[in-house]
Amino acid sequence: MEVRLYKLGLSLKNREQEMELIANLENIKMYEDLEFGGFIVIDGKSYRHCMYNVKKDILCVEPTELDEDPDDVDDCSEFTCPYCGYKDQDAFELSDNGTTECSSCGSNLEYERTYTIEYNVRPVKCAPITRV
Ligand SMILES: [Zn+2]
Repeated sequence: MEVRLYKLGLSLKNREQEMELIANLENIKMYEDLEFGGFIVIDGKSYRHCMYNVKKDILCVEPTELDEDPDDVDDCSEFTCPYCGYKDQDAFELSDNGTTECSSCGSNLEYERTYTIEYNVRPVKCAPITRV
């Protein structure tokens, strides 16, 4: 199995073999040694699976910052995957709480949406003042 750096333009033209080669893993077979989805670490660098071309046996990946044992991500204004750091712009479509998969790396996540209430206050008329 070849591992290559994912490029959308080449992928759309079905030219995965022109993407930059990261590694040729002759002893690793897709669907035998690993399932599609998740991460692969090569020479200490982590990548997430983007696509796999069965005919060409090419796994296309993107570099990512993998945190295998992350802390909770609390009080964050964006829906951020604790494992890969991906910020999901479509998280507003989720219900207020539940479980989901990271749309980038596929990790299982539990989340709750919290609301912050803020006030904007404008002066209109001051109360009477007695000066002595
Ligand atoms: Zn993720």
